[in-house]
Amino acid sequence: MFDKVEAFYRPANVREALRLLQSGKGQARVVAGGTDVVVDGDDSVRFLIDITHAGLSYIRRRGTASVIGATTTMAELEASPQIQSLAGGLLCKAAHSCGSMPIRNLATLGGNMANGSPAADMATPLLVLDAAVVMADAKGRRRLPLAEYLGNARSNRYARSLVVEIVIPDPPRGKGCRWSFQKLGRTAVDISLVNVSAGLHLDSRGRVKWVRIALGSVAPAPMRAPGAEQRMTGRILDQALLAEIGAEVAREVSPISDARASAEYRREICSVLTRRALEECSAPAGCSL
Ligand SMILES: Cc1cc2nc3c(=O)[nH]c(=O)nc-3n(C[C@H](O)[C@H](O)[C@H](O)COP(=O)(O)OP(=O)(O)OC[C@H]3O[C@@H](n4cnc5c(N)ncnc54)[C@H](O)[C@@H]3O)c2cc1C
Repeated sequence: MFDKVEAFYRPANVREALRLLQSGKGQARVVAGGTDVVVDGDDSVRFLIDITHAGLSYIRRRGTASVIGATTTMAELEASPQIQSLAGGLLCKAAHSCGSMPIRNLATLGGNMANGSPAADMATPLLVLDAAVVMADAKGRRRLPLAEYLGNARSNRYARSLVVEIVIPDPPRGKGCRWSFQKLGRTAVDISLVNVSAGLHLDSRGRVKWVRIALGSVAPAPMRAPGAEQRMTGRILDQALLAEIGAEVAREVSPISDARASAEYRREICSVLTRRALEECSAPAGCSL
């Protein structure tokens, strides 16, 4: 594992980290918590750049958004009162599901996004929250919708960039707004076979005003289910609509079979977890399901 590493750097800021990344000429690799990168053990890596002292561990308010620095750990997210009160604690629930406590003490939010796994548990709640990623490279900073970033995270496109922070615009709030994170793994500390996040805003008559559904581990990247969201909008959420939406998400996903589960099983679980998520979202809002 990393037998060929010649130098380990710990830059004190983003500018220095970017300079080291550029001078590494493709042989440098960023390391945050190390929980993915160390398992990977890529033999072509000569330089490791530890960004955990680069000033990217924070949770802040900025205008009408919550902003989370890339090296904020899962444990820090779980413990943050600001994150606990955001969208009914949706991100806390997802962070709590990321492996065991020792893993969550190391694993960072930026690493979870940059690793580009379709099963990354923080991706679906962030998609539901319409989050954006702030990237930095030699040319400066830019902001990308999370879905666009995740679609390219495994390509070489961002090889000389850093994820700096995640920006979450204030979501809808009020009596009819509810949130849910559902995950199925082999055990409680395992990676997802499927995960589903949902956000729902029902009006006073139980009609769907706003909805987001996102699914993980069922496509090359975590994805929204736009067809299902469209079908729900403006309709009363009842058992018939739940069944329709369960079937629609199963059509929208494109899972693969691997050592963990077959594609058919994953497709079925998408329906089950989506229904479960929407039921959780609708129950306290007074919907008669
Ligand atoms: C036992 C175990 C259990 C796990 N369980 C789960 C689970 O349940 N759910 C889940 O989602 N994940 C799980 N993981 C995967 C992992 O813990 C997470 O993906 C974690 O969030 C990765 O963050 P990190 O800081 O450790 O990333 P690292 O390993 O440090 O980096 C991961 C990748 O991202 C790059 N990178 C890191 N930070 C940045 C940045 N700011 N900008 C640009 N590139 C960056 C690195 O170069 C590397 O390619 C598990 C891992 C292990 C070992």
